[in-house]
Amino acid sequence: MTTAITHWVDGARYDGSSEQWAEVTNPATGQVTGRVALASATDAEKVIAAARAAASGWGATSLARRTQVMFSFRELLNARREELAAIITAEHGKVHSDALGEISRGQEVVELACGVSHLLKGGHSHQASTGVDVHSTRRPVGVVGIISPFNFPAMVPMWFFPLAIATGNTVVLKPSEKDPSASLWLAALWTEAGLPDGVFNVLQGDKTAVDAVLHSPEVDAVSFVGSTPIAQYVYAQAADQGKRVQALGGAKNHMVVLPDADLDLAADAAVNAGYGSAGERCMAISVVVAVGPIADDLVARIAERTRTIRVGDGRTGGAEEPDMGPLITHSHRDRVASFVESGTAAGATLVVDGREVQAEGDDTQNGFWLGPTLFDHVSADMELYTEEIFGPVLSVVRVETYAEAVALVNANPYGNGTAVFTNDGGAARRFEDDVQVGMIGVNVPIPVPASYYSFGGWKRSLFGDTHAYGPDGVHFYTRGKVVTSRWVDPSARPQGGLELGFPRHD
Ligand code: NAD
Repeated sequence: MTTAITHWVDGARYDGSSEQWAEVTNPATGQVTGRVALASATDAEKVIAAARAAASGWGATSLARRTQVMFSFRELLNARREELAAIITAEHGKVHSDALGEISRGQEVVELACGVSHLLKGGHSHQASTGVDVHSTRRPVGVVGIISPFNFPAMVPMWFFPLAIATGNTVVLKPSEKDPSASLWLAALWTEAGLPDGVFNVLQGDKTAVDAVLHSPEVDAVSFVGSTPIAQYVYAQAADQGKRVQALGGAKNHMVVLPDADLDLAADAAVNAGYGSAGERCMAISVVVAVGPIADDLVARIAERTRTIRVGDGRTGGAEEPDMGPLITHSHRDRVASFVESGTAAGATLVVDGREVQAEGDDTQNGFWLGPTLFDHVSADMELYTEEIFGPVLSVVRVETYAEAVALVNANPYGNGTAVFTNDGGAARRFEDDVQVGMIGVNVPIPVPASYYSFGGWKRSLFGDTHAYGPDGVHFYTRGKVVTSRWVDPSARPQGGLELGFPRHD
């Protein structure tokens, strides 16, 4: 029995007319559990039209009402997060507790959006000129397209849609076709929370659906997250169509360990951040840079921990839950495994080999498994280093000095996240200044900013100048209006008369 996963329009399921479908698989078992509709251009037009039709009404809805809906959504999400986590684990494969963690981080943005009336306060200047006042407001941009990747089927959409909706926009979400069910669950929750029909819509599909969003004149802004080549494509296409666009791309995150660091803390962090969610996180640590004489000791501690990781079907949850789940698809598993071969051939030292891993759980023999894999003596010219692997393969690069470590981080084309491990506050502060990276952790390996800051990388990790959520999110989904008013005191009405000169303040 497979489930048909279709679109969501005007507060209800919509099957669309496309004959194209893609299989959705449980990566832990390899079983096909559903098929997702791949929208035709006509389907996309219908979904986008619903968002357009709802935009003016929702944009004019009071802040008080919008806030009530946000709170209601937050309460429902909080009460029913276990359901969503189960859906995420069944289609993505990350273990249940990790799926709950993803939901929590998304929920933080929902909570930020509950304070939208405060976030949208404008400025006011009384008596800017004699009898003249000036005030500014932020207004919704209209219809927002959100295109999301497979690795966070709930959190990444939640980086965007809470603020987009709270600030008065309507949304078309195009989730990844690899794990599309979370989007429909979230859509139904919005309806239950009292969001008017047409404000939150889901368009399932692949490139055809994405292109329809990018080229529709009815879409005003696009928030994209995915791999760098597609991010660059989305940015160029949407900008060419005159849309506002932010496109977050791939990453290769370095964790620099200085000689004075607490090596147990650093080893724990490297393992958690390297192998959590099977390395399928844009903020995962994929390169540990060991500075100076600590390398042998650090590698030994990382290896010792890596060997204890339990891999298996993460649907069990509770005390039986394994540490790490499978990779998303068979082909992705094979691609990641190919780096183990290419790394060995290139001369890196394979310290822990994940290829023969035995996955825990029933029916896991056909799952997409690769155990945690550790390489030492990796150099910057190896594919292991140059490619975004997006799997449980951690590389250790050894350097002699701090300057070499910083040069390595800065020479990398990506600039999403990085971390430094040290007990020297001055060194950490200097690292913060020296690296060309958007998000930096000090003794924190995955420095995803809190919801009231903004998330975004530098260089080829972000196309566009606005980061996700936080103040940048509010700014991205709104446009500024400034109003200059003159109200004359009836008891002191001036004589008036013609004045063709440029208005001046006096
Ligand atoms: P992806 O680029 O393959 O897909 C992302 C989205 O683009 C999906 O919705 C997909 O349907 C669509 N898409 C795919 N090919 C397309 C094409 N040719 N034309 C138009 N649309 C297309 O990415 P993915 O494999 O789903 O996700 C993993 C990638 O996302 C990694 O590179 C990871 O680093 C990145 N990512 C980045 C961040 C960040 O914050 N920077 C966060 C999460 C994931």
